[in-house]
Amino acid sequence: MMKYHAEWVDTCQFAFLCWECDSYHYHGSNGDFTDRTELRHSHCLDCKQIEVVISPLTKRYLFGKDKKKYQQYVNSRKVQEKSTQTAT
Ligand SMILES: [Zn+2]
Repeated sequence: MMKYHAEWVDTCQFAFLCWECDSYHYHGSNGDFTDRTELRHSHCLDCKQIEVVISPLTKRYLFGKDKKKYQQYVNSRKVQEKSTQTAT
């Protein structure tokens, strides 16, 4: 399966650069800007299934309370990582 890395995400969409057609494709983010892998149908590969990874490197275009929410998410994840590190 083709795997893409999302370049940015906001509360409506995320976007990634497609190597097949060398342009950006946009998919709905459903207001979710957390890190994850999305299974989507490609817009240009005969609807073949692809994976789009939203990672800490994906830019967040967020403002106001959404930006705050994301900051809280990042902070809580850091705390989680810390506690798993001490556990092992
Ligand atoms: Zn494409």
